[in-house]
Amino acid sequence: MKVAVIGTGYVGLVTGTCLSEVGHDVVCMDIDESKVERMRRGETPIYEPGLEELLQKNIAAGRLHFTASIHELKEPAVVFFALPTPPNGDGDADLSYVIAAAKNLADVIKDYTVLVNKSTVPVGTAQQVRDVVAAETEVAFDVVSNPEFLKEGFAVSDFMAPDRIVIGSSSKRALAVMAELYQPFTTEGVPLITMDEASAEMTKYAANSFLATKISFMNEIGNMCELTGANVDFVRAGMGADPRIGNRFLNAGIGYGGSCFPKDVLALHRTAGHHDYDFKILTAVMDVNQRQKKVLVQKIVDRLGENLSGKTFAMWGLAFKPDTDDIREAPSLEIIRELVGRGAKVQAYDPEAATNVKRVFPTEIEYASSALDALHGADALLVVTEWKEFIAVEPQMLAHQLKDKLVFDGRNIFDPATMANAGLTYLSIGRG
Ligand code: NAD
Repeated sequence: MKVAVIGTGYVGLVTGTCLSEVGHDVVCMDIDESKVERMRRGETPIYEPGLEELLQKNIAAGRLHFTASIHELKEPAVVFFALPTPPNGDGDADLSYVIAAAKNLADVIKDYTVLVNKSTVPVGTAQQVRDVVAAETEVAFDVVSNPEFLKEGFAVSDFMAPDRIVIGSSSKRALAVMAELYQPFTTEGVPLITMDEASAEMTKYAANSFLATKISFMNEIGNMCELTGANVDFVRAGMGADPRIGNRFLNAGIGYGGSCFPKDVLALHRTAGHHDYDFKILTAVMDVNQRQKKVLVQKIVDRLGENLSGKTFAMWGLAFKPDTDDIREAPSLEIIRELVGRGAKVQAYDPEAATNVKRVFPTEIEYASSALDALHGADALLVVTEWKEFIAVEPQMLAHQLKDKLVFDGRNIFDPATMANAGLTYLSIGRG
């Protein structure tokens, strides 16, 4: 099937590449010409495990193409919008990218086409896109909502073997096209869940808001464990064994970040407000997360005082989570601001995300070339992202390197007893 994907970020590039992998003929379009050039050469502009190999394989097979011009899309049967929907000044999802692309697309479609919203968009957007395109063309088309549930860091495997595919459409014709498009997945047993557009749009917000709620809830339990002398690791094991709860998203830490949870919780909260509905749980989820992002700095201040001038902190991890270079809403950014604002020196290392952070803090902090390099001359270590390579580091080596023998672990990657045995003062989250 001929497929076009507009926008080639984490969602669009993965969607386009994976659909070409299962045999579709895909053209990906992006307004960023330098990105398009890189992708044509077989380079991925983002870090996502397994993506580059798949990209190169499908370019070589002649199934995956890139363009910077919407007019080069050659009569696709399906067009995906994988465009940004960041919060606008009020916190609502900014639909301007999607609406602008939909307007431009009206010129391009020559025959019946299915337009698919893969961007996360509020209820009512499918109708809005339909109205915009219908005002510009006489050609028959349908608009479908097909929210994406992939996780950065696992995007390729999530797309190739998803838990479910959600399709929202009231058109039988569009549903048939989508069923054919996803047949390589459904024949492998992936459930295709069909519903109306509004429900599909709501499903994505509901799923992300629920996961964010789980994280904020567990962060509150972690804080309570610290106050009462309980250990959140044991509590998680005991709770998570209940299949009604499950043990995923139950790690206490320093708050959720990334390009999705913060903006999607806020957007659903705003949608509720537009309907005069007070979505109380989401208010609390956001408040808790804001507070939790400051927990690590609070532990530092409690230990070392407000004035941190003369102190050097090694910082392990900048990405909002491991296996991605994405730093949108990453807790690391707030921690850097707080530490630098108190006069501290920060030596940061991240396997993939340093280039992105350098754009935000070009001179304010130093960038180390390895985890060990970041420890050089440091008084204390902060663990901000739980990359696997950090977990393997020997506590004795940390005790040898760190002048104050202090470790603030925002991700609970080390065992408290082992750290104490190595002579380290180890402060983590929710462990008594
Ligand atoms: P992104 O910022 O990584 O990528 C967006 C891309 O769109 C960029 O490459 C940008 O250059 C391009 N673009 C902007 N305007 C354009 C235009 N007019 N024409 C063509 N290209 C244009 O975004 P993302 O993380 O891939 O997210 C896209 C959507 O998918 C958002 O709504 C997001 O909420 C949703 N989503 C994201 C994830 C995730 O993990 N990142 C997961 C599920 C859903």
